[in-house]
Amino acid sequence: MSALFPTYARWNIKPETGIGSTLIDASGKEYLDFISGIAVCNLGHCHPKVISAVQKQLEKLWHVSNLFEIEGQEKVAQLLVDHSVGDYVFFCNSGAEANEAAIKLARKSTGKHHIVSMKNSFHGRTLGSMAATGQDKIHQGFGPLLTEFTYIEMNNASSLKEAVTEDTAAIMVEVIQGEGGIRLMTEEFASALKAICEQYGCLLIIDEVQTGIGRTGTAFAYEQFGLDPDMITLAKGLGNGFPVGALIGKEGLKEAFTPGSHGSTFGGNPLAMAAAEAVLNEVFTLPLLESVQAKGKWFKAELESLNSLSLVEEVRGKGLMLGIACEIEVAPIIEACREKGLLVLPAGPKVLRLLPPLIVTDKELKKATDILTDVLTTIDAKQGVNL
Ligand SMILES: *Cc1c(COP(=O)(O)O)cnc(C)c1O
Repeated sequence: MSALFPTYARWNIKPETGIGSTLIDASGKEYLDFISGIAVCNLGHCHPKVISAVQKQLEKLWHVSNLFEIEGQEKVAQLLVDHSVGDYVFFCNSGAEANEAAIKLARKSTGKHHIVSMKNSFHGRTLGSMAATGQDKIHQGFGPLLTEFTYIEMNNASSLKEAVTEDTAAIMVEVIQGEGGIRLMTEEFASALKAICEQYGCLLIIDEVQTGIGRTGTAFAYEQFGLDPDMITLAKGLGNGFPVGALIGKEGLKEAFTPGSHGSTFGGNPLAMAAAEAVLNEVFTLPLLESVQAKGKWFKAELESLNSLSLVEEVRGKGLMLGIACEIEVAPIIEACREKGLLVLPAGPKVLRLLPPLIVTDKELKKATDILTDVLTTIDAKQGVNL
């Protein structure tokens, strides 16, 4: 019996403690956690620097209204603009709220309403971010939706050209679709995006809620796609598990977010800022980002040797955001990995999603590789012949 709305299909594990890449359940069983709270605990569970930063703030001041200047906000905003193409930051509490803020700012700053987003995208569950999400199953039963969204196939430049008009306020996109199956934007599509934004003067919003904060081996993933976004949205990895979201925007957008135009009671809360500052001081350093690139490269190359199995279609992704696209549904693979002590996620029905913490060790990556190889080889031997 549970007094909770059954919005989540729960797994049969009760996590109790976590340390680094390891999650320990109530029975004492240890798991190698390659879910990381869905790209949230990028520095692993219970990172000492994040704990100590939050603890310090906990004893000083938990909350004040945004009527007051909050020092932590100034520091975290400065770190975010120093490491991105943006100039100003708005803080909120989640990815959906960051996207909501981006949609509002796009409308207000351009005076237009039309937004183009991608099929298979995921931008959140609020009415605005849900409307931006190009998946029927997310919309079902919640209509009528916020209007003036057009969904196009990612990497289809001709659909993009057809969809964008003089009335388009913004294009909203993930450079690597997370929930949508670790699908990468092509170079051609990235160039088409740039060209069309220039031609029509529409804004480019990049949703980095999952790809941001070092996950792909650079501070933000858009850097690797040659893009120059007007807005960047963040959440997941920003607080390493402390709820916090952010919208980064360019100079020209400042005039549209005047006092009273947008806000959030908890947005930029001192505790959230303490967590985020500690996270960014760790993640936005060359040694950490270079180690993510190196570890990601090694892991991807190891996984690519599984390409010889008939059930493996493709290994894709960047840094430590990797997917194994399979010919079969991945639920039994995830279950078998779990039994062997490795937690991995799906990204759609046929893609395994691997999101180890950025601090994962070589030894842990090797262990995960061995488990995945074992599980996939066994299932392939049983089912692969029929594919
Ligand atoms: C998780 C996610 C969101 C939504 O974030 P919430 O914090 O759950 O609201 C938005 N966009 C992307 C790309 C995500 O992965």
